[in-house]
Amino acid sequence: MKIATIIGARPQFIKAATLSRVVRAHSDIKEVLIHTGQHYDANMSDVFFRQLQIPEPDYNLEVGSASHGRQTGQMLERIEEVLLKEKPDWVLTYGDTNSTVAGALAAVKLHIPTAHVEAGLRSFNRKMPEEINRIASDHISDLLFAPTQNAMALLAKEGLADISRFSGDVMYDSILFYSKIVTEKHKPAVLDELNAYYLATVHRPENTDAPERLQHIFSAFSELDKPVVLPIHPRTRHLLDNIQFNDNIRIIDPVGYLEMLYLLKHSAKVLTDSGGLQKEAYFMNKACITLRDQTEWIETLENNWNFIVAADKDKILDKIQVNNLGARSDAFGDGHAAEKIINGILDTEE
Ligand code: UDP
Repeated sequence: MKIATIIGARPQFIKAATLSRVVRAHSDIKEVLIHTGQHYDANMSDVFFRQLQIPEPDYNLEVGSASHGRQTGQMLERIEEVLLKEKPDWVLTYGDTNSTVAGALAAVKLHIPTAHVEAGLRSFNRKMPEEINRIASDHISDLLFAPTQNAMALLAKEGLADISRFSGDVMYDSILFYSKIVTEKHKPAVLDELNAYYLATVHRPENTDAPERLQHIFSAFSELDKPVVLPIHPRTRHLLDNIQFNDNIRIIDPVGYLEMLYLLKHSAKVLTDSGGLQKEAYFMNKACITLRDQTEWIETLENNWNFIVAADKDKILDKIQVNNLGARSDAFGDGHAAEKIINGILDTEE
């Protein structure tokens, strides 16, 4: 069987690394890796291939940054060309980026069966580009792998139960595997001078496209009772000149996944608008403050593990003080999501 995997953005490299490892253990599957080039900076792309030992992409479509329409359109055109040439049996897409929807759409139009990993996530906020990408990808794919039972239920509500399978979350698989290989050599230099700190990331368009929201967030970070280590996303870096903040915020370049796991493990708490980091905080026993108006990962909200605070400075400063954490659920599976996904695809051959 030949599987074409479409990736393009940081969180997809982390998910694909785990799937690719399982694929390589199957001598009867050949994987063709197609990188759309959506993320192209060395520290947003190359470092993940190197650290996570993802094979070199067979194709790099070098689409790069552009408006949504232009970027998705160029991906669609270039992915179609590769699929026509490679004629895979399945196309595999991940998550909720423009690379996801372009990959699924190119495949379905060529009548190539398509599986969507991390299906069934909904924020119910249609202004998020990711929400549109998820809905579209789920509804045009042939097989949907849901990370949680909640995602399964949402897919069923949309009439997609027949093609949905519960796999658990590949990011949980990833963290279990890679946290074992994190060592002192992955300690970022910023920690040499810090004892206790919060770990933060901010890059969602709902914050970066709204200068006042970003300012509230940076003002809150400036007043927190511990320094805030902030690996800065390129989209947010462009905006820093227009924001007021003080040196309680330690801005660093984006780090590799293993450095990120080191930062996470030693942090006091996490503040983020990332989908992936909310879950990783949960997996690693860290309380999280989510700088968004809603979350798709509602399981993390139980027992004070995660608070939705939007860009409200007072709420950020208030919720960071909450410490009475309760039990965590095992909603994200058993750490073998990747095997379940590959077996789910192989089962279709029978
Ligand atoms: N991440 C990383 N280095 C960084 C910041 C984030 O490796 O400097 C990882 C993070 O641990 C998580 C993933 O990137 O696994 C999240 O990606 P991102 O926040 O870009 O996307 P989202 O999760 O919001 O889709």
